[in-house]
Amino acid sequence: MTNDQRKPVMAGNWKMNINHLESIAYMNKMAFSLIDADYARTEVVIFPPFTDIRSVQTVVDADHLSITYGAQDISAHDSGAYTGEISGSMLKKLHTKYALIGHSERRAYHNETDESVNAKVKAAIKHDLIPMIAVGETLDIRQGGNAVEHTLNQVQGALKDVRSNYVSELVIAYEPVWAIGTGEVATPQDAQDMSIAIRAKVAKLYSQDVADKVRILYGGSVKAGNIKAIMEQPDVDGALIGGAALDPDEFLRIIRWPDQP
Ligand code: PEP
Repeated sequence: MTNDQRKPVMAGNWKMNINHLESIAYMNKMAFSLIDADYARTEVVIFPPFTDIRSVQTVVDADHLSITYGAQDISAHDSGAYTGEISGSMLKKLHTKYALIGHSERRAYHNETDESVNAKVKAAIKHDLIPMIAVGETLDIRQGGNAVEHTLNQVQGALKDVRSNYVSELVIAYEPVWAIGTGEVATPQDAQDMSIAIRAKVAKLYSQDVADKVRILYGGSVKAGNIKAIMEQPDVDGALIGGAALDPDEFLRIIRWPDQP
């Protein structure tokens, strides 16, 4: 399977930005800007804060938009005494499609480990959400020459005991930590090389058929000015975008990556 058969994904991670009212203005802008040709070429995904999901859903449903959305995190638990957590069933009720799991900010500030990431991946699958699993190395690890080993260990840890029919549907976002929000971008070749390594790992753990179906994104200081070269890499199937996705005009330019310089 070539990348022509994996639909590209452009996913905007709002992090802890944009409130529920602002999210309506943002989504309206997307609604009147995106045309059928955009949706046909690229899956557009928004990861709003939990408090915005209902607002995003309302615009998507009212305008019959093809935009999909996900949660920035998910509880490993189904329900109960877990103050502050949000369950997969609550997210599913809001027609959430994806759960972003293992973002480096959650690994760094909320002590998430490969074990907790794996538990969340299973919780997402249990509730019929598609995991988008973020992996990637810190600068120290890269400089020590262990970027590939570290990232592939994160992939293996996240997928422990996950059945192959679920793996072929999920999305893996390679996000070198040193490139997130720093303005430092991995070269398109770095993104391609790590995507090849991740795909080979999935093939080894499952099968070539499963590996050919998994969509692998690059994330880290993506903007309109660098997206085209990243998307020209055959194993890179899209991008996870933080800062640049906060501006709907910039996000629209990224979604229209073939038109960019
Ligand atoms: C991210 O948060 O996943 C991300 C890639 O951020 P940025 O685009 O700002 O580097």
